Amino acid sequence: MSTPTLLILPGDGIGPEVMAEVRKVIDWFGTQGMAFEVSEDLVGGAAYDAHGTPLTDATMAKAQEVDAVLLGAVGGPKYDALDFSVKPERGLLRLRKEMDLYANLRPAQCFDALADFSSLKKDVVAGLDIMIVRELTSGVYFGEPRGIIKEGNERVGINTQRYTEGEIDRVARSAFELAMRRNRKLCSMEKANVMESGVLWREVVTEVGKDYPEVELSHMYADAGAMQLTRWPKQFDVIVTDNLFGDLLSDLAAMLTGSLGMLPSASLGAPMANGRPKALYEPVHGSAPDIAGQGKANPIACILSFAMALRYSFDNGDAATKLEQAVEAVLADGLRTADLMGPEGGTPVSTTEMGDAIVAKLGA
Ligand code: NAD
Repeated sequence: MSTPTLLILPGDGIGPEVMAEVRKVIDWFGTQGMAFEVSEDLVGGAAYDAHGTPLTDATMAKAQEVDAVLLGAVGGPKYDALDFSVKPERGLLRLRKEMDLYANLRPAQCFDALADFSSLKKDVVAGLDIMIVRELTSGVYFGEPRGIIKEGNERVGINTQRYTEGEIDRVARSAFELAMRRNRKLCSMEKANVMESGVLWREVVTEVGKDYPEVELSHMYADAGAMQLTRWPKQFDVIVTDNLFGDLLSDLAAMLTGSLGMLPSASLGAPMANGRPKALYEPVHGSAPDIAGQGKANPIACILSFAMALRYSFDNGDAATKLEQAVEAVLADGLRTADLMGPEGGTPVSTTEMGDAIVAKLGA
């Protein structure tokens, strides 16, 4: 088989700092006979500085060709005054749009050593491991008509929730496939009680479910889902939902588990010719300009994003689990970047020390 290809886009702020630690992890896997053909390029403000655009056509073309893209973060105060069309975020949006990444995977996983970080009781979150699949390219954020119009004497704000059967079908399939790799349990969330788009969503997900008889499918209204996520989140395994509800529920679920510096994500599109999905992996956090360049950034979110790439693009669940266990082990040893420093203390470490410790655990 040909060597898997990976495009790395470190971006701005802490992006390059956390990505340097991921490079150490990639190099370690290379020493174990698991080599990647890695290329690196610019995105966001860094690309604007060099080329006057947050993503060049050449980088876009490369992103379409590789097996997976790994992105750090984009943006920063330096670029705030730029025209909307060349803002750093436009680079990321172009990647998501042109790669047609319709399934956004947001895990909410609570490492035991960090269970005290949650705002919920420890026994509610300890050992939590759920995955939210959010539809990313349609729904109310994109539906037409939209805008602010004048009706008589007052203005009216309009957005339209719109889903085609095809859009629901493909994201549902992504979620069922994921459920097949996990615990074969999927909960679909919508508001079929008050929204026609929710009625269609439920019908199509149910129909797709017939192709996955091994998966236990349930449905829940999204508002009830939010309550259940805070009451007893461990009842869920994979959740699939639309763009708007997914935006809210994935943030809610992620924060059950603590710091922004710990949260990875994947955005997947249609399968390519080699069977792998189009894929972009990135930490949930931004470029954190307040701590950039100070060695304070937590590289774990980016490292766990690479673990997701191992599992979902490179079909190597064992390597992904090994990497996640290495992260768990350094946390259990008490190593803490500044964002993880809670009342119970720990050993303060820098970005590079955290990366080195994780690589050391891999090799142990
Ligand atoms: P942010 O995620 O960059 O930072 C929020 C807070 O969390 C900050 O206090 C930061 O120091 C902390 N933080 C974030 N990641 C951390 C890490 N890995 N380790 C330790 N602490 C961490 O969000 P923001 O401050 O709202 O935005 C900063 C810039 O990032 C803006 O330009 C914004 O547009 C951009 N942004 C980019 C993305 C992305 O690239 N996907 C996402 C969100 C924000």
